[in-house]
Amino acid sequence: MNWELDWLEHRARLSPHKDAIIDESTNMTWTFKDLNNRAKSIAGWLCQRGVKKGDRVALLSPNHICYFDLLFACGKIGAILVPLNWRLSVHEIKEILADCTPGLIGIHRQFKDKFADLIDIELDVFFIEATDFEEMVYFSGKEKFLESISEVDPLLMIYTGGTTGKPKGVVLSHQAVFWNALNTIVSWSLAEDDITLNYMPMFHTGGLNALCIPILMVGGTVVIGESFSGKKAVQSLNRYRCTNILLVPTMYHMLIQTEEFQRSTFPHMKIFLSGAAPCPYQIYDAFRKKGLAFKEGYGLTEAGPNNFYISPEDALVKRGSVGKPMLFNSIKLVKPDGSETAPHEVGELLIKGKHGFSFYWNQDQTTAETIKDGWIYTGDLAKKDEEGFYYIVGRKKDMIITGGENVYPLEIEQWLAEHPAVDEVAVLGLPDDKWGEIVTAFIAPKQPDSLTEEELQDYCCKKLGRYKIPKRIIFVNELPKTHVGKIDKQKLKEIHTVK
Ligand code: ATP
Repeated sequence: MNWELDWLEHRARLSPHKDAIIDESTNMTWTFKDLNNRAKSIAGWLCQRGVKKGDRVALLSPNHICYFDLLFACGKIGAILVPLNWRLSVHEIKEILADCTPGLIGIHRQFKDKFADLIDIELDVFFIEATDFEEMVYFSGKEKFLESISEVDPLLMIYTGGTTGKPKGVVLSHQAVFWNALNTIVSWSLAEDDITLNYMPMFHTGGLNALCIPILMVGGTVVIGESFSGKKAVQSLNRYRCTNILLVPTMYHMLIQTEEFQRSTFPHMKIFLSGAAPCPYQIYDAFRKKGLAFKEGYGLTEAGPNNFYISPEDALVKRGSVGKPMLFNSIKLVKPDGSETAPHEVGELLIKGKHGFSFYWNQDQTTAETIKDGWIYTGDLAKKDEEGFYYIVGRKKDMIITGGENVYPLEIEQWLAEHPAVDEVAVLGLPDDKWGEIVTAFIAPKQPDSLTEEELQDYCCKKLGRYKIPKRIIFVNELPKTHVGKIDKQKLKEIHTVK
């Protein structure tokens, strides 16, 4: 048996009757034996529908067991699952479909109307939660699986969050998914008694690979949450006696404001994890005040996504650090001339490991610019201290050069977010004739009209060097977010440039 290809088969033999998946909205439960049997049936059904090795199978669905069903089924026949972001417009989805050209697309019946146009184009469509899906799950074929498939063959193609441009199709092999999961289990000490609640969108690597796949591999349980609300999340964490959860900072922001959060003690929770974007310090502090373990992870679709480990104890002392590289992962920070940085010096973060992606779909040039000598150039900037703890400083593309000085927006955002009257903040550089770019802060205050530009500039002077003080402060009601809940700086820049 090739473990990288079919670990689910073995997991189903080891713990056949253990709960693998629970659906939060219906409370339906599936064991590991169920999960593996479903995957085999669906694999047979896909073969019968003409899906072959290397074919893409697209999926448009809210969080639902069908993501796991189709992922494991595709794995058994060498097909590539392409989960799509259903929050995109029909036009955007059509662009992505033209890029990945799937032979088959699964659409959840909830989206039948929204994506009615897709049903007309030349695509073989099947519906999730309809007779089609029942037929798949109970299909009994005699196909032979896993023949002529190797661990370096593609298993999954995930389109990136689109924070810096059009989403790119990131191709992940069986090996990449397997090693991210194994590395996460070992480095984060996941165990069979772990139960995670997943509200992260499953079309995004954070929803599928960050915790769900590792938890399934180790024999733990995934509770699938469909739509997030802070109140419901607290209730479900308590109801299912969950041990961990991963959310993006925007979701934590909503969660910590609920009465339910204030009242709960979460005795069963081992760790609360934040990822996908920088986490404001007030969120860390809300958990610490309650004596709850909280930490931040750093990841990207192209590598894992999991890359670092920090213990809850270190996370208390090393505020804002993502920790040290995980066990089977190489990381280095390099300067523009290619040399490695000294402690506290900022450099681009490079990653090398078996959890890395294979290539960008249809983008050879970008692939060649991103993977060099096996190292993935993340486009993120980071620094590390003398003890080897890493701190993410921000995206290379977001770095502001003002009057010849480099300014990293995250440092300013973190300080402004600590101001008691500030709800959300984004800092970016806007073009300026004199300075090249000027540091500009967009602020969503907790109460409208409660802050002035001068007041916030004075506040910044207490901590930041003069050239970092925002020359302009723009007050907004709310900051725009990407489809995965990250602050959308591109949109802010666009809106402002149009004005
Ligand atoms: P695109 O590549 O299409 O522009 P994206 O970068 O948002 O979109 P993802 O792969 O979803 O695509 O996100 C990975 C990025 O998210 C990282 O490269 C990094 O910039 C950011 N990120 C993830 N975790 C953190 C973190 N803890 N702190 C700061 N930034 C983070």
